[in-house]
Amino acid sequence: MLEAFFTPESVAVIGAAREPGKLGYGVLANILEYGYKGRVYPINPKADEILGLTAYPSVLDVPDPVEMAIIVIPNKYVPQVMEECGQKGVKGAIIISAGFREAGMEGIKLEREVLSIAHKHGIRVIGPNCLGIISTHTPLNASFAAGMPPKGSIAFMSQSGALCTAILDWALSENIGFSHFVSLGNKADVDEVDLLEAWKHDENSRVIIVYMEGLKDGQKFIKVAREVTKGTPVIAVKSGNTAAGSRAVSSHTGTLAGSERAYEAAFQQTGVLRANSIEHLFDYSTAFAYQPALKGRNIAIVTNAGGPGIMATDALEESGLKLATLQSETVERLREGLPAAANVFNPIDVIGDALADRYAHALKAALADKNVDGVIVILTPQVYTQIEETAEIVGQIAASQDKPVLGCFMGQEKVGPGIKVLNRHNIPNYVFPERAVGAFRAMAEFWERSSRPDPEYKEFDVDRETVKKVFDRVRSEGRLSLGDAESREIMEAYGLRIPRSVLAENADEAVAAAENIGYPVVMKIVSPDILHKSDIGGVRLNVRGATEVRDFFDLLIYRAQRYMADARIWGVLVQEMAPSGKETIIGVNRDPQFGPLLMFGLGGIYVEVLKDVTFRIAPVAQREAREMINEIRSYHLLRGVRGEPPSDLDAIVDTILRVSQLVTDFPEIVEMDINPLTVYEAGKGALAVDMRFVLEERESEQG
Ligand code: ADP
Ligand code: MG
Repeated sequence: MLEAFFTPESVAVIGAAREPGKLGYGVLANILEYGYKGRVYPINPKADEILGLTAYPSVLDVPDPVEMAIIVIPNKYVPQVMEECGQKGVKGAIIISAGFREAGMEGIKLEREVLSIAHKHGIRVIGPNCLGIISTHTPLNASFAAGMPPKGSIAFMSQSGALCTAILDWALSENIGFSHFVSLGNKADVDEVDLLEAWKHDENSRVIIVYMEGLKDGQKFIKVAREVTKGTPVIAVKSGNTAAGSRAVSSHTGTLAGSERAYEAAFQQTGVLRANSIEHLFDYSTAFAYQPALKGRNIAIVTNAGGPGIMATDALEESGLKLATLQSETVERLREGLPAAANVFNPIDVIGDALADRYAHALKAALADKNVDGVIVILTPQVYTQIEETAEIVGQIAASQDKPVLGCFMGQEKVGPGIKVLNRHNIPNYVFPERAVGAFRAMAEFWERSSRPDPEYKEFDVDRETVKKVFDRVRSEGRLSLGDAESREIMEAYGLRIPRSVLAENADEAVAAAENIGYPVVMKIVSPDILHKSDIGGVRLNVRGATEVRDFFDLLIYRAQRYMADARIWGVLVQEMAPSGKETIIGVNRDPQFGPLLMFGLGGIYVEVLKDVTFRIAPVAQREAREMINEIRSYHLLRGVRGEPPSDLDAIVDTILRVSQLVTDFPEIVEMDINPLTVYEAGKGALAVDMRFVLEERESEQG
């Protein structure tokens, strides 16, 4: 699909320069210096020859076909050059030149122009404003980067050019191998999603790293990433500077949601692993790139010191991995080969005076144990420690079988040569046990993710027509937020249970409603200007009798007016008093990048204080709805504690899925909350007691 970039038969460098120090020189020099085997054409109207190659005034003058063009000229000439590339039949263009979208209005226009020329001719574009690309297996270094990473199996893409240079420097200093290296720049055309698709089946890439600042199409990212992570681990580093939506939020969910939550949810739902720092990024990617897959969570530790063994054990437990329980044969075997003072249970302590042979014995025994999925070899430099010999034998043993082994040779000065030996045997080393554990956790997560079945979406039989009618009616009245009766219509249309209620405009109506519903009732102020009714004393529970109804009617209206003199007051809602249950919240906030971000958590009036909530991007699959319930801190409360019966978790799942379907069917819902969704004991369902909906403003409605 993007072969033109990674394995082109010929490349033209448009803007190739004769003077070292210019970008147009650097790019051409890199192509030649790092062994590209295809045809190379420097394009420069003022030169006949550059770096020993014939130069041509324009790409149209090249006698043979040109598959890929690298454009390094001032921005204003790019459209014309792209036009020529189109005529020449160029399939891919890397535009290194800057001065486009990143440079203001003029640049935005120029970028659009370039893109429309590219579309017209079917040219794919990387950049503009990028560093270029490197594909080590081709080999092709079509960049102005200082150097070429060793050939390897890490594929890397980055929106930030600066990060590219930093990663490249690391690759060179640590001798870490890469397959592809792409600086995406402004992402006018090719973006993260395109590259994920292109690398999904790339046999040279065992792990894909994405450094992203923002995404153009979050839903597409989810779709593609979900496919890729079935076979290839994807590690994302996300910097936090995504532009937040500018819309003012008016719901609990809106307050708690945010682009960070949306990314978290998207990564979780797709199985993309997140690295929270560059350090983690390196830790995980080397483990994936160099070691066989970890196929479980049971880890053995071999160490020559007690302290680090305990640190590793603690880290394992905290990260959800397990300290493997060794089989009795293994324990026996360890006992035979190790001194009496050694610990033959996991963590296996070969003790301070261990030479390489003891490590060899312990490592072989651990790897042979079917209860062990992976091993961390910890070494601290003690008086007799054979650092390099140990590294050598560990490397040989690891290579002879198919479970992953990670090194944790602690220190720097003394263990340095040993680490080099480990690396030569493709064993990544981590200076601290927690970091090795972190790498194993990432591997375990990937393993579980890759064996996870595809998500299943439930489709309910619902009444879309009614919802559409309600929304149209609300809009026709010049409103975007729904009144209580309207919200209730929506809930019913999507099969959710709500308490009986009536909107009363005066005290007489309120009494009539209350008698009809039956005492006790709940009374609530209804005003589009009052977001959280209880905040102003606008909710009255347990109202018994006509006199109370009349008194509270006046009181609620009074409080609303005192809160805001010109508040629009639609009346007082008289509602059936719901039996008490566990109060949860289900809400949705539309994220600018991913669309409907669905929240579930502990509800009631303290949601914002407790913040015990979790998120997924809709549509939410059945398994995901279950996970949401399990994830919140108060899960135990829902499961039932101290003799309490468990809550109706199926009813929560059902509600999450129905809400997910609603907001997927109606993208115009930008915010909604059901708070509380009162949940009863298992088998008794749930009741949507209070809800709120806000619709998207359409351009035609902007006043
Ligand atoms: P708001 O969220 O605007 O303050 P709610 O309608 O959610 O108003 O009411 C606040 C709280 O009052 C709810 O969290 C719930 O505990 C209680 N409540 C509201 N309506 C009922 C009802 N019909 N039955 C029982 N309790 C209710
Ligand atoms: Mg509420």
